[in-house]
Amino acid sequence: MSTPTLAVWKFASCDGCQLSLLDCEDELLAVADRVRIAHFLEASSDVLPGPYDISLVEGSITTPEDAERIQRVRADSRILITIGACATAGGIQALRNQADVDEYAKVVYARPEYLSTLATSTPIAAHVDVDYELHGCPIDRRQLLDTIGALLAGRRPALPAHSVCFDCKLRNNVCVVVARGEPCLGPVTRAGCGAICPAFGRGCFGCFGPAESPNAPAEAALLRATGMSEDDIRRVHRTFNVTAFDTERAS
Ligand code: SF4
Ligand code: SF4
Repeated sequence: MSTPTLAVWKFASCDGCQLSLLDCEDELLAVADRVRIAHFLEASSDVLPGPYDISLVEGSITTPEDAERIQRVRADSRILITIGACATAGGIQALRNQADVDEYAKVVYARPEYLSTLATSTPIAAHVDVDYELHGCPIDRRQLLDTIGALLAGRRPALPAHSVCFDCKLRNNVCVVVARGEPCLGPVTRAGCGAICPAFGRGCFGCFGPAESPNAPAEAALLRATGMSEDDIRRVHRTFNVTAFDTERAS
């Protein structure tokens, strides 16, 4: 059997999730032994033609050109995995979805007429079928390696849908809400990071986006009890995944 090929694609993003792959360091050599990295412009200009067995897609769709390019990436990919808050939820750049992008462009650019942009920033799944989603800003490198390892072994990756609180308990973290009365989005945020922020004594700020079926009203009440205003609560929900928590809060 030929060695499976891996491709990494960038759309509107800061490159942090691609850097998480490079940050795998020692493990990257083991990954490189098992897959042929065929397209990864962040790491190499050596590009092999598709189709590709596994594609990792970072970033959101913000331009007409990218809306077309993602169709070609999908057509060239057997398994397509979106990585990070931009690719799975539109990213911080989805703040534009609640504003007038032309007004923003006029304020920021001297010659906005040269811009080619869409009025919204949307997740990859709004444009093409996605096989798996890795959440986080950035993604968790251990979860990335587990996912690639599972696919190479021919099984489905085990991606959690439960909340960070579950993992916090498994890690024996002291709860920052209960012990110190500090805000934490862990009860409504998707697990996958190993509850790393509470492990270091600070509340979760929701970078993995909403867990499956979160109890949004109870979480809002918990945040209010720590002294947060309605404006603070809205802002903390919109930090990395912008509209994702809005959807959950409305449901
Ligand atoms: S610290 Fe946050 S994530 Fe951990 S148990 Fe408490 S509320 Fe949940
Ligand atoms: S604990 Fe929350 S904010 Fe911290 S990495 Fe995990 S999901 Fe992100």
